[in-house]
Amino acid sequence: MLELKPDDLPLHGIKALALDFDGVLSPHGADEPLPEVAEWLKRCCSVLGPQHVVILSNRPTEERRGMLAQRFPGVRLVAGVRKKPYPDGLNKTGELTGVPLSTILMADDRLLTGCLAALLAGAIPFYVRSPLVRLRGNFRKELFFMILRSLERLYIRLIN
Ligand SMILES: [Mg+2]
Repeated sequence: MLELKPDDLPLHGIKALALDFDGVLSPHGADEPLPEVAEWLKRCCSVLGPQHVVILSNRPTEERRGMLAQRFPGVRLVAGVRKKPYPDGLNKTGELTGVPLSTILMADDRLLTGCLAALLAGAIPFYVRSPLVRLRGNFRKELFFMILRSLERLYIRLIN
């Protein structure tokens, strides 16, 4: 995630960000971003404006909404839409941010949820190749998602 440099975003014509949570801002299931990612997120807010940063997670919990309101005022959490890979969340992001979908970058660690949703909506997918993982206390769930990500990459390779 941190490989995406906030200051470079406008240079590439990116006006808004849609960010996945699990694996992108934090290891699976956490409700707070890791400290270094929190700094990164704050910088994105400074560069683009917090109203142009949206969290698009398939788990839009109230804990996450409260955390965002407190620590990242202005950053919205999209909820009440069909889950990724349906493009609904990205369409909603376009409405909330008021910028064209072609200028919205969706960062996700899953090819067949967030990245596919971005393609379906006409937004820009950014595949997070090195997701945030914490195996201690969460081994089964993280292992499940590691296998799932590998299978997705294999599937995409096979159909190409
Ligand atoms: Mg994820």
